[in-house]
Amino acid sequence: MIHESQMHAMVLERPGELLKARKLPLPVAADGELLLKVQACGICRTDLHVVDGELTEPHLPLVPGHQIVGVVESVGKGVHGFHPGDLVGVPWLGGTCGECKYCLSGRENLCDLAVFTGYQRNGGFAEYCTANAGFCFMVPEGYPATQAAPLLCAGLIGYRSLRLAGAGKKVGLYGFGAAAHIVTQVALWEGRELYAFTREGDGDGQRFAREMGACWAGGASERPPVDLDAAIIFAPAGELVPAALRAVRKGGQVVCGGIHMSAIPSFPYDILWGERSLVSVANLTRQDGEEFLALAPRIPVRTEVTGFPLCQANEALAALREGLLEGAGVLVVDGA
Ligand SMILES: [Zn+2]
Ligand SMILES: [Zn+2]
Repeated sequence: MIHESQMHAMVLERPGELLKARKLPLPVAADGELLLKVQACGICRTDLHVVDGELTEPHLPLVPGHQIVGVVESVGKGVHGFHPGDLVGVPWLGGTCGECKYCLSGRENLCDLAVFTGYQRNGGFAEYCTANAGFCFMVPEGYPATQAAPLLCAGLIGYRSLRLAGAGKKVGLYGFGAAAHIVTQVALWEGRELYAFTREGDGDGQRFAREMGACWAGGASERPPVDLDAAIIFAPAGELVPAALRAVRKGGQVVCGGIHMSAIPSFPYDILWGERSLVSVANLTRQDGEEFLALAPRIPVRTEVTGFPLCQANEALAALREGLLEGAGVLVVDGA
């Protein structure tokens, strides 16, 4: 039995353990917040890093999930621009201080006091959640909740990574999952060529990359047929950094798109020499969100989604871990 002031949620009680199905009190929108009835919530590799304890500052017990699409149920005091019934997206960046040198210089993604959805505040692996309205986005027209959810992290982080990769035409993607399948659509629309690198021997992943429009797909240790202008690494494997540096031309960029990566092995300076650069992408700004969510329907970006019910969050995360998902995994919470 569930009381009407309760909700079902999947909860991380201790890192390293499975999520537990729990009944939690229905959250209430505080000043400046929205209460959302969750329709769908994407799963992301960052969720694995939280569950596994590789990200060490979760607010426990925690409802994970930071690619939330929900219907506004109620609005707190002082909220402007959102109304009950709106379909809204909630990303990883859940709040910033607004005052630090990063916030004041257009780099709120680096805010010293940022709070993150599904990490320091409860996320969308639940029937309801609250979110700071100032960090929510309207879901673009024409996107059902399930299709929109992966835009909110895979899409946004992929978009920011592509911007940091520069304007070069030949772009390599290491790890062809949720982010890469969205970036590919943006990059093709911009007239670029995509080179996809997957786990060794992952024929299905390579076929999927070619179906999405990659002009070449191979194993991560392979050299592509051309020198790349840039490479984006989405897989959390440090050994891909020297591999990607070797694949890019002089002056090329290597962008690490993940929040956590295993140790990068030492490498000879000559693969960085020639003004190659290596940079990480941290989080997102609200401007990234506004830009990308305006762009997505123009392309239009289509997400390939595998849906799971909320109660199968652990199975969904396991499938992501095993590399079994083609495109993005999404928890479908409210029959969306
Ligand atoms: Zn994410
Ligand atoms: Zn700040």
